[in-house]
Amino acid sequence: MLGTDRSRPAWDDDPVVAEWPGLPQLDTDVSTDVCVVGLGGSGLAAISELVDRGHDVVGIDAGRIAAGAAGRNGGFLLGGPATFLHDALAAWGQCAVDLYRATLDEIDSLHLVLGSDVIRRTGSIRLAGLPGAPPDVADAQDCAALAQCLRENGIAVEEYSGELGHGIFLPDDAVMNPARRALGLASTLQGRAALYEHTPVSTIGSRSVTTPSGTIRCDLVLVAIDGRLERVLPQLDGRVRTARLQMLATAPIAAQRLPCPVYGRWGYDYAQQDAAGRLFVGGGRDRFAEEEWTFSSDPTAPVQDYITEVAESMAGEPVSVNARWAASVGFTGDGKPLCTEVDDGVIAFGGYNGTGNLVGPVTARAAVALGLDGTPIPEYLTG
Ligand SMILES: Cc1cc2nc3c(=O)[nH]c(=O)nc-3n(C[C@H](O)[C@H](O)[C@H](O)COP(=O)(O)OP(=O)(O)OC[C@H]3O[C@@H](n4cnc5c(N)ncnc54)[C@H](O)[C@@H]3O)c2cc1C
Repeated sequence: MLGTDRSRPAWDDDPVVAEWPGLPQLDTDVSTDVCVVGLGGSGLAAISELVDRGHDVVGIDAGRIAAGAAGRNGGFLLGGPATFLHDALAAWGQCAVDLYRATLDEIDSLHLVLGSDVIRRTGSIRLAGLPGAPPDVADAQDCAALAQCLRENGIAVEEYSGELGHGIFLPDDAVMNPARRALGLASTLQGRAALYEHTPVSTIGSRSVTTPSGTIRCDLVLVAIDGRLERVLPQLDGRVRTARLQMLATAPIAAQRLPCPVYGRWGYDYAQQDAAGRLFVGGGRDRFAEEEWTFSSDPTAPVQDYITEVAESMAGEPVSVNARWAASVGFTGDGKPLCTEVDDGVIAFGGYNGTGNLVGPVTARAAVALGLDGTPIPEYLTG
């Protein structure tokens, strides 16, 4: 069943990603204002903010840009935190709405920087249940509760009823190829920041970051790693916990079936269809919760069998799977993203609970404000 390439996400088929020339490895000691560790969507957002403010920045990644979840995810750009807004509002108060608005602003700024080819403003559909499955009354009631909460807070939402089933349509949401987004952002930063690939961190200390091939001396270190953060900074063990999420991509299906990103069954299962007709599908986090608390990022047969079923439900026809992959993400106890100073001049952020494409950059901006200005983190983050 796992005969396909075990590690290569189908996003890398995009010519811009496939032909990425790569960046050098750090090979000497350097001094800079700020060192950013981790070049996913969050680290790149932090670098962008820092260079806009006139700072010298060195950014390093253990692998290629977006070697982690940032280049291997579902590509959904959904407003709000991982917890649906009505639940987040009940648990955290009004700051949940502030986070929702900040993520919508982040879509605007990504769209401005990368354009409509990369950031497609399609909206998204949250389904009650999955296509072709019997109606799920509790899920439908939750969709209605979410819609009411969005309306009460002035956020656009419509009823959805169509070929895929019933649910709600969120017109402000968007979709992308996540690897293309990250490499696009990195391209805009070349010449403005010193970026290095294949440069893993050995130790992170106050005002210095060591790698096997050089030491970076700096005034501020920002550690922008979502999954496996507690491996790099063991003092965060217990505050963030790493889980694996898995995906697959199909061969093109017959129909242009998904008009926008679609997520169903309480948002646990999700799919988007690209211009070539391929489905990119993930899910099952709730069904395999215990097994997926792992640092491994290899896909497994039970989860892949399950998401193949999800793919067939989303497609409305049998599918042929061309690629299967997985990556690590971080979870926090209270569902709020983590942004915390772990040492003098060392700020770590991550733990986006499976939804970091927008929340990650929002958190990165808060980390920059904390590190440069001492601005307290917003209430929607956990410190
Ligand atoms: C299968 C899957 C589907 C998902 N779907 C969605 C979705 O549709 N929408 C959404 O919003 N979120 C989604 N997510 C979550 C989202 O991908 C992540 O929250 C987000 O990409 C995190 O980005 P980041 O830049 O914070 O961290 P990461 O992507 O974790 O980037 C951290 C970087 O740090 C580097 N690094 C790690 N250790 C070291 C080290 N020791 N030295 C140097 N560099 C190091 C890694 O190589 C990596 O490039 C999904 C995640 C997965 C796995």
